[in-house]
Amino acid sequence: MRMIENNTYTSPFSDMLNSSASPLQDQFGRTFNYLRLALNEQCNLRCMYCMPEEGINFRHKDKLLSAEEIFRLLKLSSQMGVSKIRLTGGEPLLRKDLVPIIQYANCLDGVNSVHLTTNGLLLSKYLNSLEQSGLSGLNISLDTMNADKYKIITRRDGLKQVLDGLEKAIDSSIRSIKINVVAMRDFNDQELMDFIDLTKENNITVRFIELMPFDSHQIWKTGKFYGADHIIADIKKQVDELSPIDGSRTEHHIFKVNDYKGKVAVIPAYTRSLCGTCNRLRITADGKLLNCLYSQDETNLRDAMRMGKTDMMIKDMIYGTMKKKFKDGWEAQNQGNENRKSMTQIGG
Ligand code: SAM
Ligand code: SF4
Repeated sequence: MRMIENNTYTSPFSDMLNSSASPLQDQFGRTFNYLRLALNEQCNLRCMYCMPEEGINFRHKDKLLSAEEIFRLLKLSSQMGVSKIRLTGGEPLLRKDLVPIIQYANCLDGVNSVHLTTNGLLLSKYLNSLEQSGLSGLNISLDTMNADKYKIITRRDGLKQVLDGLEKAIDSSIRSIKINVVAMRDFNDQELMDFIDLTKENNITVRFIELMPFDSHQIWKTGKFYGADHIIADIKKQVDELSPIDGSRTEHHIFKVNDYKGKVAVIPAYTRSLCGTCNRLRITADGKLLNCLYSQDETNLRDAMRMGKTDMMIKDMIYGTMKKKFKDGWEAQNQGNENRKSMTQIGG
């Protein structure tokens, strides 16, 4: 192994750091080129499956990554082979420096696309600047198109604003528009077709996502879980002409209704049948690197940066963390007690 010396520091991953051809990989040969970075924990909704009404114990702003720290992590990740970046939260549109962050990410060598996941409440207001920032994709979270149900699930009013934002997004130059629908029994299971119908005239993807147990167990224990297999079976009962097509790595089950312009995907977020092709790194709003959504371990990149660690040391921490990734999310979850109570603390 060649040695890279940086004064007194010798990198244990010197071969990888020396070769641009060495991808960021784990022991199972999975390559990680997709970074999901949470920009904040705060949110203007209180979705029942995500946060309690009173919110969570939000960290003080000083504990969250500053714009400069975010820029640094984005730059280092891109140097390590990350080509796709998703900005999430909390609600990322609440972060005032969102646009410069998108612009910075877009300018990095090797980064092909920058995406945003948002609840859409503030989308109309910021859509022009998002378009101008060069954003490649928007995932808009919307679980129902019924105003009363919207108020129940989000504990706020706002369906009209989200639908306005969605319409503007569809008409915008942003090339990929997806709707994230957390599918729940006895809540929106009767709305599958309403969502699928949105793909008739619009080149968008509607994604039905399994409910996950990151909600302080509020909804999780109420029998609302609606498994991917059942979602697909229920869609097939209602749509005759459904053709499977290829999707992204997470959209294992992806279909097109014949002649419709858009696509329909079903995401087995809880059943975890796609871990074998996982390509994701996750960084929380307070700068902890997770090698799995269900990981019980975290690597504190924020403190490392604040303690003055060099770029090479930070990269080593990232290599080391990703190398240790467990085979799948079940093994990862079994390593300890669930310590995160909300998706806002992970960056969904
Ligand atoms: N606030 C933004 C939003 O809602 O789009 C971004 C952050 S939110 C945590 C990201 C995604 O995680 C959303 O699509 C949301 O529906 C999903 N999510 C949150 N909690 C979840 C849970 N317990 N199970 C499944 N999906 C969840
Ligand atoms: Fe906020 Fe998104 Fe969580 Fe809903 S899912 S409470 S919009 S962070």
